[in-house]
Amino acid sequence: MGPGAAPGRQPKLRIVRPWARAYTAQMSEEPAAGASQTAPADPNADCPRCLKPQALCVCEGIAPIDNKVSLLILQHPQEQDRELGTARLTVLHFKDALLKIGLSWPSLTRILGRPADPQRWAILYLGSVKAAAVLPDRDIVVVNKKGNAVDHQDSALSEIEGVVVLDGTWSQAKALWWRNGWMLKCKRIVLGPKRPSRYGRLRREPRRDGLSTLEAAAMLLARLEGKPEIETALHTSFERLLARYRELHPHPGRGR
Ligand SMILES: [Zn+2]
Repeated sequence: MGPGAAPGRQPKLRIVRPWARAYTAQMSEEPAAGASQTAPADPNADCPRCLKPQALCVCEGIAPIDNKVSLLILQHPQEQDRELGTARLTVLHFKDALLKIGLSWPSLTRILGRPADPQRWAILYLGSVKAAAVLPDRDIVVVNKKGNAVDHQDSALSEIEGVVVLDGTWSQAKALWWRNGWMLKCKRIVLGPKRPSRYGRLRREPRRDGLSTLEAAAMLLARLEGKPEIETALHTSFERLLARYRELHPHPGRGR
């Protein structure tokens, strides 16, 4: 791959609030003597499904979509954006979706626990190729190792049985890419979203294509399956998460 220049900037404003740390400590230690038995009322308790603090949980009532194209999200172990991370929320939206946390796996088959041919899977490519630059009228493009659009886009897209999305900062995703040789066998997909991420300025270091993991997965599966309603459902959840976040942090960036 040609990742271009490595990003020089590290996330300066990682959103970690003091109460979030207190919450982590609370989970890993014995409850203090006399701690209340009414745990569900604790506003700092996390949701067991999405692992977000209750104040940011939007996963209740999500009806998993019966997707035909499998989704695999690989998360770097240091991706710890508990508040704005979307990997777990994304996976909850699909019947056939898997989130794995780690750095390297010997094969796609080992990750999935079932036989899988990486050549029939696609990975959301990290390189600097932009869909619009390759094929202007398409917003999802299969590219070869040189970053050029492959011939017969429609048949290349229709062969795809599953997609891999790397979750983490750009440098974390790059680390995953280099440590997993089987990814080189996957088809490479680039996206050309027509609108910027709904994250807006909340996040310092978005994906290369500017999208959240949720938005990228939504776009991929909606296009591959020809079902725009997939994007609608996931965006609804994402908007709810962002609304909750803004309620919790009315003035992001203004100290703590
Ligand atoms: Zn939840």
